[in-house]
Amino acid sequence: MSNVTQTEIPLYIKVHAADNVAIIVNESGLAAGTVFADGLVLSEHVPQGHKVSLIDFAPGQDIIRYGEVIGQARQSIQRGSWIDESLVDLPQAPELDELPLANNVPATLPPLTGYTFEGYRNADGTAGIKNILGISSSVQCVASVLDYAVKRIKAELLPRFPNVDDVVALNHSYGCGVAINAPEAVVPIRTLKNLATHPNLGGEVMIVGLGCEKLLPERLLPDDKRENILVIQEQPGFQKIIAAVMNMAEERLERLNQRQRVTCPVADLVVGLQCGGSDAFSGVTANPAVGYAADLLVRAGATVLFSEVTEVRDAIHLLTPRAKNEEVGRALVREMKWYDHYLDLGEVDRSANPTPGNKKGGLANIVEKALGSIAKSGSSAIVEVLRPGEKPTQKGLIFAATPASDFVCGTEQLASGIHLQVFTTGRGTPYGLAMAPVIKVASHSELAAQWSDLIDVNAGTIATGEATIESVGQEIFQLILDVASGRRQTWADQWGLHNDLCLFNPAPIT
Ligand code: CA
Repeated sequence: MSNVTQTEIPLYIKVHAADNVAIIVNESGLAAGTVFADGLVLSEHVPQGHKVSLIDFAPGQDIIRYGEVIGQARQSIQRGSWIDESLVDLPQAPELDELPLANNVPATLPPLTGYTFEGYRNADGTAGIKNILGISSSVQCVASVLDYAVKRIKAELLPRFPNVDDVVALNHSYGCGVAINAPEAVVPIRTLKNLATHPNLGGEVMIVGLGCEKLLPERLLPDDKRENILVIQEQPGFQKIIAAVMNMAEERLERLNQRQRVTCPVADLVVGLQCGGSDAFSGVTANPAVGYAADLLVRAGATVLFSEVTEVRDAIHLLTPRAKNEEVGRALVREMKWYDHYLDLGEVDRSANPTPGNKKGGLANIVEKALGSIAKSGSSAIVEVLRPGEKPTQKGLIFAATPASDFVCGTEQLASGIHLQVFTTGRGTPYGLAMAPVIKVASHSELAAQWSDLIDVNAGTIATGEATIESVGQEIFQLILDVASGRRQTWADQWGLHNDLCLFNPAPIT
């Protein structure tokens, strides 16, 4: 997709009129002496995605990107210089008690009608986009047994049930040796309970427990149907355990196999958004394109979740005004405070993010990363705020509080019921989820070309001017509907690249 002639012209991207830095577009960066069309001359080599100063900075002067202060100049910096992370001082995080709440609520976007997808109708009224048998567990002790059983189910049973997409063991590290009554234990327990009733699992609950764990299997049941639980300490030997798991699976596979795809309104869709391995392009290409797709989804009545507390914390002053009312605004502040406290307990702060890879990609600090990250949320009002792993009660744009770690965010968003996830990346990651397809969007064309069999959408064409935020956003929207309908498969699903579930457990382990 990359257009060689276009990228040979020296290009930089300035996002906002007030910006006094820009980022370099060209693949190998640009050499000292490079002259841009506007007369800017580079005084040194600047790598791709890294910042060039557009003015002469005095020490302490604000460095502005996205029209916002991303830090202060640590020393004098001449126009045309490379501003690497060592030259940027981290500013104070926005004061949480002084944030404006719901004072700039975006007007409702015009409705978008006529879009549907082919999904599975669940008994509880929700829809699914996959028809998966999920086998939950109340404790990690049974994980190896489930892995063994799932292998046999896939080999011996699944071929008889062609309408079932997959069999997945929902293995995890929780259940025993945990402070089950600690106040924050509610997070992993809620997560496991909501995973067991994920909409892509067709309402077929199946929970396997050990029999002596602190987390009783009953606590994961959505109802009192004890027949959906198997306790392996009650079984006479390993082979009987496997036979019992396979019997339970077979009953459920038979029911799942009866299901057919039916036309569903886009309003039935719940889409999660995430970024991982971000670079300086993420905030100008992939994330705004995803934001455009998010707006289309919201206009079509869908539910869109964005997350990653540490990656919105430094841009929270731009989000609280978009809360639909003060109550939602206060809930945003509540989640930020909770996380500030959580990080304090671990004696770390927000400077622990970004990663070395983020920095190599041109992101100086968490402020710059956050400003790019929130572009995923598009431009609609925030209608609800979820604690980690909670299910939404509203449709529209929702902030679902989660850590920023890819797998933890993915797991918590699954618990919140996402049907699929859109994942933007600049550095590249093979990340995938077994329970929901992950559409990967590259922030620059070199990654899309290098990983053409892992990246689903190239948003790098926005940087080179070959495409627009709107056109890539439309492409992502259409791909979401195609993947939801089973018409197209993501690369991660094609290769079977699925990361383990990774629960968020802020409670003590004993
Ligand atoms: Ca992430």
